[in-house]
Amino acid sequence: MSAVREWPLRVGAEERGSNDGETFAAHNPATGEKIATVPRCREADVEACVAAATQAHGRWSELGPLERAERLNRLADAIDARAEEIARLDAVDNGSPLDYFRTDVRNTTWQLRYFAGLALEIKGETLPGDRDRLNYSLRQPYGVVARITPFNHPFMFAARGSAAPLIAGNTVVIKPSEHTSLSTLLFAEIAAEVLGPGVVGVVTGFGEEAGEPLVAHPDVRRVGFTGSVPGGQRVLATAAAAGIKHVTCELGGKNPLVVLADADLDAAVDGVVNGMNFTWSSQSCGSTSRVLVAEAVHAELVAAIGERVAALRPGPPEDEATMMGALVNQLQYEKVQRYIAIGREEGAEEVVAGGPVAVAGHERGFFVRPAVFDKVDPGSRLAQEEIFGPVLAVMPFAELEEAIAIANGVEFGLTAGIYTRDLGAAHRFARDVEAGSVWVNDSSKHFPGAPFGGWKASGLGQEESIEEIVSYTRAKNVNVNFA
Ligand code: NAP
Repeated sequence: MSAVREWPLRVGAEERGSNDGETFAAHNPATGEKIATVPRCREADVEACVAAATQAHGRWSELGPLERAERLNRLADAIDARAEEIARLDAVDNGSPLDYFRTDVRNTTWQLRYFAGLALEIKGETLPGDRDRLNYSLRQPYGVVARITPFNHPFMFAARGSAAPLIAGNTVVIKPSEHTSLSTLLFAEIAAEVLGPGVVGVVTGFGEEAGEPLVAHPDVRRVGFTGSVPGGQRVLATAAAAGIKHVTCELGGKNPLVVLADADLDAAVDGVVNGMNFTWSSQSCGSTSRVLVAEAVHAELVAAIGERVAALRPGPPEDEATMMGALVNQLQYEKVQRYIAIGREEGAEEVVAGGPVAVAGHERGFFVRPAVFDKVDPGSRLAQEEIFGPVLAVMPFAELEEAIAIANGVEFGLTAGIYTRDLGAAHRFARDVEAGSVWVNDSSKHFPGAPFGGWKASGLGQEESIEEIVSYTRAKNVNVNFA
């Protein structure tokens, strides 16, 4: 049994507990072991953290863009220097494989450097006027920005999610998921060393106790939320009730991947398996959890997918050979089992039987074998609801138009993919599918610098690109009469 670390809260330059001294426990989902205690923040802690961020804002926003860029690059260097420590912390706190979190850290540091490189692109414009008049626009920071993050990429969403607000001249207060707070606390420690106190703050704790007062705080005018649709709805309601705030939301998905009869079927099977993100137990917003297959190749494709998925074996996150980790907590573990039961009750054909599985030496871990259901009714719960776990729903179709109708027949619109050799079909699909990102003959990979964001219930706004930086600025238009 390893030592239980008591993580402090960092408020400006001070390390302390929560205001009332309360903590909550963090557990390793692969072993059930208690690994840390974390401050349980409430309104008074939010108040103190936002005050520290407000104080730091003057100093941070007065830096020129190139000075901020230089500091962001140094932050990336400091993260790189501690990459293995960060990845190991996320692995024990979240349960997905260690190597997956190494990739997360690499993705974080290149994105910090990418946003640093865009510092001079935070431009306004000038408009033609008459001889004695000038009209120009400015882009200015909001001040203190709130970032609320989910459990599936704890460090990446905290650190990468701070890059755009910071380069635009804001300071940031992050509220991580109660299930995965540790690497965000470590990020705040590294950020304080490199950027100075208060530029990045963290309030740990629960959504209603720490997240809500952060969103409602009068000095927080901009909120970036990543999480579930119900979470986004709550944040939007709080922000509306507390005054009009700019809120962007990166929310859930039930992403379709369409395979036409003329597709390269080997590539399509790779696309389905990679797109489902089984490595992290499909706990990814972008998981292609609905596979729509043309009738002519349906039987062949389902057999090939079944074979690949049945071979996946969950294992200990720290083991380099692990293909799939543990689910993050008991709630997720029970939710996945509930949906497997729903699939059976709804009469879908069970191609690969999923369910709980014991991993030697990790008997208390939340491990599940993935499930594949075929001939799923497009209107059923299995086809409509985000499971956020390794349960794949396959649906046959006759014509492309039918596939597009099924693809669009859910409340979500995050990503979509198609495998085909028919250029016209690919472009018709890309034009007509209701999703913020579309892949043709590929799945899941984020294209560097491309805007990512959902349609419909999947979100508001776009991230990972220049659009994200602009969204962390306020526009001001200036009219000058110099006659
Ligand atoms: P979640 O339950 O919505 O929680 C997200 C965050 O919101 C957590 O920090 C949570 O705190 C906080 N929160 C909950 N209630 C709140 C409130 N009333 N006010 C302020 N904050 C509140 O989501 P999750 O289960 O962690 O993550 C999974 C979801 O995230 C999935 O739906 C997935 O699709 C989505 N996601 C989307 C993207 C994307 O880019 N589109 C990326 C990753 C994940 P507590 O956990 O402490 O309650």
